Amino acid sequence: MSTNCYTRLLNAAQAAPSRKIIVLGASGSVGANAIQFIQQQSNMQLTGVSVHRSVESLLQILSTHPCTCACISDPQTWRTHRADLKARFPGTRFFGESEGLVEMVAWGADSQGVDTVLTAVVGAVGIAVTMLAIERGLKIALANKETLVTAGPAIQSRLVELEQQGMPLPVILPVDSEHNAIFQLVQNLPAGHLREIILTASGGPFREFSPEQIAQVKREQVLNHPTWSMGPKITVDSAGMINKGLEIIEAHYLFGIDYDHLDALIHPDSIVHGMVGCHDGSYLFCASSPHMVFPIAHCLCYPDPVMVRHPMAAEPVHWAALRFDPVDRQKYPGFQLAIAAGRAGGTGPAVFNAANEIAVAAFLADQIRFTQIPVVIEETMAASIIATGGELELYLEADQIARQKAGVIIAGLKV
Ligand code: NAD
Ligand code: MG
Repeated sequence: MSTNCYTRLLNAAQAAPSRKIIVLGASGSVGANAIQFIQQQSNMQLTGVSVHRSVESLLQILSTHPCTCACISDPQTWRTHRADLKARFPGTRFFGESEGLVEMVAWGADSQGVDTVLTAVVGAVGIAVTMLAIERGLKIALANKETLVTAGPAIQSRLVELEQQGMPLPVILPVDSEHNAIFQLVQNLPAGHLREIILTASGGPFREFSPEQIAQVKREQVLNHPTWSMGPKITVDSAGMINKGLEIIEAHYLFGIDYDHLDALIHPDSIVHGMVGCHDGSYLFCASSPHMVFPIAHCLCYPDPVMVRHPMAAEPVHWAALRFDPVDRQKYPGFQLAIAAGRAGGTGPAVFNAANEIAVAAFLADQIRFTQIPVVIEETMAASIIATGGELELYLEADQIARQKAGVIIAGLKV
């Protein structure tokens, strides 16, 4: 197993506790948790935020915490509200549309001393701003898994180039709870001891359902996750185990581990988040009650050992509940497709992710049924040619083409 991309992507040796932070996707589930945590830390400052359409959330954040910069990424919402916002908050510099995310992070890093970007936007839209943060050598607390899934090889390739040019490398720390758990575990593992990585999955709301019952589920049932409180897209992803498929691919890129040594287990209580198997046959695991404040705090405080174990008002952990089962791959075809896309490599995961984003949006708009999501992904993958290489354009193009194909496939489906 190569440790190269572990050292390049995570580059933890260069990390410092976060001081001036931009939270992208501030109105979302991860974003709101992050802001709450930052606000409790006397040595951290919320310098900037972005929202897509949630102007109310933005007003609330800016009224309680004056940021030096803010962005509304949805063009229509930006055009409607920019004049009013600029008048109400003269001390804040505003940016608009998806380019505004990149412009805001560049401005924050260059003129405001921003050292950390927490990317909690949803979807592959996070790629451009993550690339910018990489160029600026910032600490990136990465919640937005779709970025790494779509453009993993291009990000790795850019890091190699920066290293060869002697440029400062960014620090990328995983906010996703499973990967954060693995990150905490592998750091304390002597080189060469890691044999396998196991991510846990709650199994979502349909763990006890038969495939026939899953075929009948309604939107409200899909959006009712048993253990985690999350945004709608990742909640749909979790119900069909597609989230775990995306996370397997994310782990492949983050930790440089091949797919033969990567697996998932169903663990209904979401207490153990990840396990590493060592060469001597022992397993280490990392556990907490299921709350995103743990990995968020870990990333922002890292590597300060006192801050990392910052006391948090958490639910007590119910140890008696621990149970682990293999994933039923027949029941969760989306999980199986994700592993196939990961193994295919190159633009395979980008196609998988794009088709899934389009299919989930169609499901949330009541255009397709829940069980048609993996159908759209499979058909899109079958209609796509996989390319390999390190250029970002390759992955952006694959993403766009797959979105179009998925749209056509959806239009031809009978609901
Ligand atoms: P959410 O839907 O609650 O919030 C998404 C945020 O992104 C919002 O602020 C929204 O305004 C913004 N946004 C939406 N569309 C956008 C667009 N096109 N351009 C720019 N911004 C946009 O999502 P979430 O649950 O907080 O998840 C955010 C990311 O973190 C996802 O990639 C998800 O997979 C990942 N993640 C979430 C959790 C969790 O517990 N919620 C855990 C691990 C990883
Ligand atoms: Mg996760």
